[in-house]
Amino acid sequence: MQEGFVFDFLKFTQNERSVTIGVMSICTKTLRVRIKDKHAKVLARMAFEVNQVWNATNELTAEYAWVPIPEVGYVSLQTSEYDLQKELRPIREERKLSIGAATVQSVIAQHAKSRRQFKRSKLRWRCSGGSRRALGWVPFKTAGVKLVKGQIRFCGEFFCVWDSYGLSQYELGTGSFSEDARGRWYFNTTVKVEAKPGAGIKSVGIDLGLKTVVTGSDGIKLDRRYITDEFAQQLGIAQRANKSKRVKAIHAKIKNSRRDALHKFTTMLTQDYGAIFVGDVSSKKLVKTSMAKSVLDTGWGMLKEQLRYKAMAQSVFFDEVKERNTTQTCSSCRIIPGSSPKGRAGLRIREWTCCACGVTHDRDINAAKNILALGLERLVGGTPCL
Ligand SMILES: [Zn+2]
Repeated sequence: MQEGFVFDFLKFTQNERSVTIGVMSICTKTLRVRIKDKHAKVLARMAFEVNQVWNATNELTAEYAWVPIPEVGYVSLQTSEYDLQKELRPIREERKLSIGAATVQSVIAQHAKSRRQFKRSKLRWRCSGGSRRALGWVPFKTAGVKLVKGQIRFCGEFFCVWDSYGLSQYELGTGSFSEDARGRWYFNTTVKVEAKPGAGIKSVGIDLGLKTVVTGSDGIKLDRRYITDEFAQQLGIAQRANKSKRVKAIHAKIKNSRRDALHKFTTMLTQDYGAIFVGDVSSKKLVKTSMAKSVLDTGWGMLKEQLRYKAMAQSVFFDEVKERNTTQTCSSCRIIPGSSPKGRAGLRIREWTCCACGVTHDRDINAAKNILALGLERLVGGTPCL
């Protein structure tokens, strides 16, 4: 389902005016197979147990968050994941849970991670019933699952799946069982495969951002600091000294070097890829917000313009797709989970884990993957931009 990551490292060296691209040959793929419906009951029971562990963790972290200290008042204390793991170790015995110790650990670890991510000591409860119930989620570690005669063995149970990938070819890695809104269950696992580089035939989705100017669906990045950092200091010095001529000169230099870096980057993209899809975010719209300076700095318009004409010159397919919801949607299971970054507060979040399928995403790479998927859908289906 997923195109693998290829970790390309792109580095612009201002002095040497050169572009270095290194390629690592291992990529991680997420496989997702549907579990037969007859197992829904067992999985729902496991998910109920997972929710109990989650909520017990939540109780503890909320309780520990504010501790009264005499003559000082209430002091906020962070409970470490280590302490929680220790404190909750007996929960399986006490509540007679059937899920394994590794799964309990994974749930607590995920809770800790989400707390760090959202900077909260208490998270949302995972309800097992009612209209606000959380979709079933049962995480596991590599050692917890095994493929036995085409069935997945987990916690003493065997699950039949529609094996569309030939799972036996792979070594199953960390992942989760997850339920979708229709009550169907899926087995999600990460596997390592060797990357197959192929210049000019790969497709790439491009997310235009603020912190990183460009992030590709395969991990390729163009950082803003490569463009302006070395000049920022000089500019500061000149401004403090009130040297207006010098300030102007540095601004011109920044402009040139930015254009230069973008040209190299867009040339490389059109040479290496057969199809390029970019999110349709309009810089005009964002200029009106408080992010104006960053937007102007990144020069999205310039980037798209260059891509458009260079793609045309080299018969590369170039298209813009509506990037609505591309940040919030999980590129592995294609739903918008509760744990994805949302709104203005979400801008800070660089990495997040999908609470539905358990895959951890780099915020920008995930968005770029969604843009790629949307672009490819349009290319294949010939449908207009929705
Ligand atoms: Zn997901």
